Amino acid sequence: MTLPEPSEIERKLGEYLEDVWKCIRCGFCNSVCPTSNTSRSYMSSLTSRGRLILLQAYFSNILSKSLKDEEIQELMEYCFGCRRCIEICPAGVRIPNLIWRVKQLNEKPRYLRKFILTHYGELLRLFSKFPRFSNLFLHSHIGKILLELTVGVSRRIDFPSFNYSLEGWINKRRRNNGFRGRLAYFIDVFTNYHEVELGKKIVEFVEKLGYIVVAPPQREAGTLLLEEGLIEEAYRVAKENVENLYDIVQSGAKILTSSPAAYLALKKDYPELLGDTKSRIVSENTIDIIQLLLNEYEDGRIDFEIPLYDRLVYHHSCFTKASGLTKDIRRILMLAGYNLLELDVCCGIGGIWGMNKSNYEISLEIGLDLFNELKRINLPVTSQSETCRIQIKNNALVDVRHPFSFIVDRVKINKE
Ligand code: SF4
Ligand code: SF4
Repeated sequence: MTLPEPSEIERKLGEYLEDVWKCIRCGFCNSVCPTSNTSRSYMSSLTSRGRLILLQAYFSNILSKSLKDEEIQELMEYCFGCRRCIEICPAGVRIPNLIWRVKQLNEKPRYLRKFILTHYGELLRLFSKFPRFSNLFLHSHIGKILLELTVGVSRRIDFPSFNYSLEGWINKRRRNNGFRGRLAYFIDVFTNYHEVELGKKIVEFVEKLGYIVVAPPQREAGTLLLEEGLIEEAYRVAKENVENLYDIVQSGAKILTSSPAAYLALKKDYPELLGDTKSRIVSENTIDIIQLLLNEYEDGRIDFEIPLYDRLVYHHSCFTKASGLTKDIRRILMLAGYNLLELDVCCGIGGIWGMNKSNYEISLEIGLDLFNELKRINLPVTSQSETCRIQIKNNALVDVRHPFSFIVDRVKINKE
């Protein structure tokens, strides 16, 4: 195999190449990296620090393999982009961002998977138009096998059921007078096509507060594309979403999110990917439903009716941590009268990483302590992340919902 020109690789790594040299090999990242603490990760370069050492070796010309080599790329697969390491790294290495660029070099032919992932938003939209058929098919034995063969999603995963889209429901809705202004809901796929009831509750609630809710033209958040190293595709999705959302922000609306991936994409990923003014303006005008509730509380527009001082487990999802929403969620849950038991442990799912056949077992190993603890405690659980909720529900068999679901029935809207 001919080694590629270093310049080609350097070009693909771009500004992140300098992060390779920032690493001082302290290993702090290993202590928080979910995949660096498993039965496999003490071998080879399967730890977070190991991946950095490997990259330093490559750029020092002491590694005889190309970064495109299958074995090297397999090591990179052990980073699922949770971003837990960013905060702890004393040298400021943007580890996941760097690894996504290295994954870009993967030349393994994965045409069908790549096609499906690049078009997953459109495909899910199509499935949601025929929910009964889609659910029958995807929950059938043959549907699961096809999903495994084409996208690599393990047949042991129960794909979440489809519903008619939230977007469609919002657009058919009669608008109120909206004296408080307009909110453009950037929904992302899970709430848009699967957990539609949660989205409806959010819309109905903010309408009661006096907002108009619209569903602007939008694509999926695209975080999944970054994690797969499909940087150009992620760039295109980011560009399209920002163009659509920028126009609506210019007309005076704020962007509302309820998914941590959607919030993270708009707040951090898109400005970092696009580096332009429009994405920065969209970012500045994005608010999560939990922040909106806190603002309403601080302005005296809502209060909480506390029936009981209930105990609730708060699971810190990786994306919620990375987006900085943790303190707001904790605060609003406590204001709503919950006595929180916090578990800051990764469940192992990593978006769709843990759903992949090749990662399924290791994903369960990562989450095992969390599942056992949740079974032992046997209390309801809240987690902001959609895929964490799937993983926890399937493996700890507990009631697990979005924080908004635990709050909404306790909110009292004050008269103006
Ligand atoms: S925490 Fe940062 S500096 Fe330390 S080993 Fe990890 S990447 Fe390198
Ligand atoms: S982003 Fe997560 S999985 Fe990747 S190296 Fe950092 S801690 Fe590990």
